[in-house]
Amino acid sequence: MIYTCYDMIRDCREDKREGWADFVSRYVPVIRWLIAHYFPSRENDPALVERLLISLRTSTANLFDSFDPAPERHFLLALRARVLGEAERDRATPPAEYALDLETLAEALAPLTLTEKQAVWLETMSYDEQPTSRMLKMAPDTAVRARERAAELLRVKMSSWRRSVVADNGAVLIGAALKAGTADCFPAKAFLDIIDGRATWSNRSQMERHVNSCWHCIDHFCRLREASVLRDLPNPLSAAEAEPYLKLLGVEPEPRSFWKKLRGK
Ligand SMILES: [Zn+2]
Repeated sequence: MIYTCYDMIRDCREDKREGWADFVSRYVPVIRWLIAHYFPSRENDPALVERLLISLRTSTANLFDSFDPAPERHFLLALRARVLGEAERDRATPPAEYALDLETLAEALAPLTLTEKQAVWLETMSYDEQPTSRMLKMAPDTAVRARERAAELLRVKMSSWRRSVVADNGAVLIGAALKAGTADCFPAKAFLDIIDGRATWSNRSQMERHVNSCWHCIDHFCRLREASVLRDLPNPLSAAEAEPYLKLLGVEPEPRSFWKKLRGK
């Protein structure tokens, strides 16, 4: 039987070795990938991964909450939030030279379409045009044009501007969008239905009316697009590669089975 993300969440909640072994094997590569992407200057600090793992093990808050029958992307969202939060606590990113707040961004970019807004938002998440266009299933040129249009709208609106102002203010903008949720915001399932091609035309147009002017939902949509990429990252750790991390986390080794003991293995 296949051991699923659902099984891992259940076993980690019960603090079973099998759950933690699966967590380390499948998600240490994701944690490394997130650090390399969001904190490239800290990519070569293996101790950071260790500190993050210890804090995730010490407090599993919000990490294993999802009881969805297919929870992997919900779990990846929670894991990403914890990893980015812990890495910021470990060492805060310095503020941007030219500050851009969410209100100014929302006003300036109001004329853009929902797809163009996502192309811009993925820039706050440090994605350049190639991965952005893949996530949005558009030609790279379309992503480039959306960002050029946004840059022009922001340049007119801001007294001090530079081309990288959206990416420079990523952490602040993402933090503000997370807090900007309303009772009308859509749940993850609605976005996943669109990403996976299950949404009907009428569901989609009703949703777009709200999401087009809600940066909390645009952020949520983009994070779920990112989670769909993270889910497909290859190369889990082997048992031998995972073992030092399990030791670090104080996860007890598997007791040798009766038959193995009998055979002296
Ligand atoms: Zn919303």
